[in-house]
Amino acid sequence: MHFNDYRISEDIKDNLDRLGFRKPTDIQFKSIPPILKGNDLLAIAQTGTGKTAAFVIPVLQILLPKFGSPDTSDVKCLVMAPTHELAMQIHEVFSSMAKKTGLSSLCIHGGVDQDPQIKRLKEGVPIVIATPGRMFDLVSQGYLKLNKVRILVLDEADHMLDLGFLNDIQQLARKLPNNRQTLFFSATINKKIKNLAYSLVQNPIRIQISPKDPVAKNINHAVAFIEMDDKRFFLERLVNENPKSKILVFVRTKVRAERVQKALERVKLESQTIHSDKEQNERFKVMQKFRDGESLILIATDISARGIDIPDVDFVVNYDLPEQTENYVHRVGRTGRAKMKGQAVSFCSKDEKALLEEIETYLDQDIKVVDIAKKDYKETLDFSPEDETDWRSLIDKAEEDKQARKLKKRKEKRK
Ligand code: ADP
Ligand code: MG
Repeated sequence: MHFNDYRISEDIKDNLDRLGFRKPTDIQFKSIPPILKGNDLLAIAQTGTGKTAAFVIPVLQILLPKFGSPDTSDVKCLVMAPTHELAMQIHEVFSSMAKKTGLSSLCIHGGVDQDPQIKRLKEGVPIVIATPGRMFDLVSQGYLKLNKVRILVLDEADHMLDLGFLNDIQQLARKLPNNRQTLFFSATINKKIKNLAYSLVQNPIRIQISPKDPVAKNINHAVAFIEMDDKRFFLERLVNENPKSKILVFVRTKVRAERVQKALERVKLESQTIHSDKEQNERFKVMQKFRDGESLILIATDISARGIDIPDVDFVVNYDLPEQTENYVHRVGRTGRAKMKGQAVSFCSKDEKALLEEIETYLDQDIKVVDIAKKDYKETLDFSPEDETDWRSLIDKAEEDKQARKLKKRKEKRK
């Protein structure tokens, strides 16, 4: 099957062609027809398999009239996403696929001035992509009207229906017309969330691709046993041995992100950080530099684990293991996008072994172990130009200890 064989507008086909989209991916092949028919859908497919276009293409087609130009006076499709960066990314996919169709989209997120968003809403825009916070502000101020919404999409659906957002989504469902179409997309989902999702829709079609292994097959992932205090030396070594590689490093907290950056700086390695304490404009700038390859190392918290599609990320490093098991899948899924291959490695300290076990149970498989010979381990520490005493004075031991205690407690609870 080729996109040319679909019964979709020539304009959309031209746009797909220009973007280099020739054949649909599995999830696109399975999702596009039922969405075009008006079905509700719960679609689960691995990271990087093209879920965005799986809803963007049929949504655009549905909103196009048979003749004449589309009606853009009301919001007809609302897409919800967990982070500003992801909402922007989806908005960009809509923009590139909607060229010349007369359809347009608006991205609504907090952290920036709301006036330009209000202006666009007043002009009329058929597709809105939003994070919950600002969206509700604009709804309560009366600028964003949802009574004409025909399609609701939840991207990263399991996360959007999880505790933090659940109230928002339930509140939202009450504001939308009953006869709307609802689409859920995610790489991971658990039973509880699945039931919740079903409670929001009518007779959905469920599509699940490769449910056995949630980690995409083009990602080669492994774990290395490295003590907490030694992790920085191994990161330094990985960076030095792969000087031209794009590396995304995940850490547990914002404080740790800054600290890892400082540690790299001390050995003359340039990197950037991204987390929720940064101003929105700064976050966009950081992402852009990483995307363009102007800066090759990005140290991130889990806010960047979901959905972000950056081309050519060579390595994902779990500098700390994720506390939420499914985030393992999302973090490593930032590499190996589309047909690309990717490498992921997790640094697991003694204290994190319980987390590793939880992740392996979740994946229903053991993660390959990278054997580091004792000699290699020692050399990695010895070759670092970093001054040990200087480092010691810089780390805030209290923070580390607190984390260790928390992990220990968790471990004990599991026993
Ligand atoms: P997911 O949401 O499943 O993690 P994305 O929608 O972000 O994946 O897509 C991952 C990458 O694959 C993107 O860079 C996208 O442009 C590319 N892609 C998606 N569908 C196709 C296709 N049919 N042909 C070529 N590239 C595609
Ligand atoms: Mg996605």
